[in-house]
Amino acid sequence: MSGLSGTSGPLRPPTITDALRARRLLADHLPPTPMWSYPALNATTGATVLLKHENVQPTGAFKVRGGLTLLAGMNAAERARGVVGYSTGNHAQSLAYAAARFGAPCAIVMPEHPNPAKAHAVRALGAELIEAGADLGEAAVHAERVAAERGMRLVSAADEPDLIAGVATAYLEVFDREPALDAVIVPVGGGSGAAAACLAAAALAPDCRIVAVQSAAAPAAHDSWRSGGALLNRPSRTRVEGLATGSGFALTQRLMRDRLADFLLVDDDAIGEAQWTLMRDAHTLAEGAGAAALAALLVHRKRFAGQRVAVMCTGGNASEREIRAFSAAATTTAA
Ligand SMILES: *Cc1c(COP(=O)(O)O)cnc(C)c1O
Repeated sequence: MSGLSGTSGPLRPPTITDALRARRLLADHLPPTPMWSYPALNATTGATVLLKHENVQPTGAFKVRGGLTLLAGMNAAERARGVVGYSTGNHAQSLAYAAARFGAPCAIVMPEHPNPAKAHAVRALGAELIEAGADLGEAAVHAERVAAERGMRLVSAADEPDLIAGVATAYLEVFDREPALDAVIVPVGGGSGAAAACLAAAALAPDCRIVAVQSAAAPAAHDSWRSGGALLNRPSRTRVEGLATGSGFALTQRLMRDRLADFLLVDDDAIGEAQWTLMRDAHTLAEGAGAAALAALLVHRKRFAGQRVAVMCTGGNASEREIRAFSAAATTTAA
């Protein structure tokens, strides 16, 4: 089983009505994020790129839309018991941020030796950080135990209708601003972003292709989708934290099954190149996952030539090591 959501039976998929409700809930908490086009980036890619800047969210990633929507939908008694998440980073910050906003206790289980910047951010948001397990799967098992012992709500990183409805607000913004897009490219880990894009496009932009992208070094969601909906496990060997998932998730796979136009794979080096391109052409610091959509456009540029393409820059939480590696790479490139 994947997506330890704590419920039995299939989850109800969110609808566009849920996304519109989430937009009303979020209006008090988050302004819409910008979406800019950069001539240098257009020249580099051969497409008209609309870069959606989720990296400027208060937590540095789009997931905060989901966390706030979920906490806003809990009643007072549920909030008082609190929430537990397991995450390598951005889902954790989203839950911690939302829990702090709504005065709810929050515990986060991260696999041992987490990205120090992300661990620091979670603690700074007032959440309890528990380091347990060698990987996300083991952390998930530990989180389930913590939730059961303390009566807290366990929040899956992807199989949660409220998270997907909240994340869909990013795509409502995209289609409000740019109704005539040829494609939207979305990076995938658990698939909440791509599922949310499918949901919004079905209602607002039925002719726009939603294209998902994953690291070839962690292809579980890709392989699950290609198989027609089996929830497959695959080794996760990617360096790219936001994309490091080892299994397909039921709810997101179901939403992607019919609506996703294509699912591409890129290798980690191509993602690194795209991070550098974002810095050079769009003065934007993206973490690897936040540059994966651009990597897909660069690697598969023929498919998108001359088109209007929204590229999701999903997050900016690059680790200090990652940022230092850039400077080294830049020195080499310049020489
Ligand atoms: C979580 C995350 C992703 C992947 O999103 P899913 O909804 O898990 O598919 C992409 N980019 C960033 C920055 C993330 O934090």
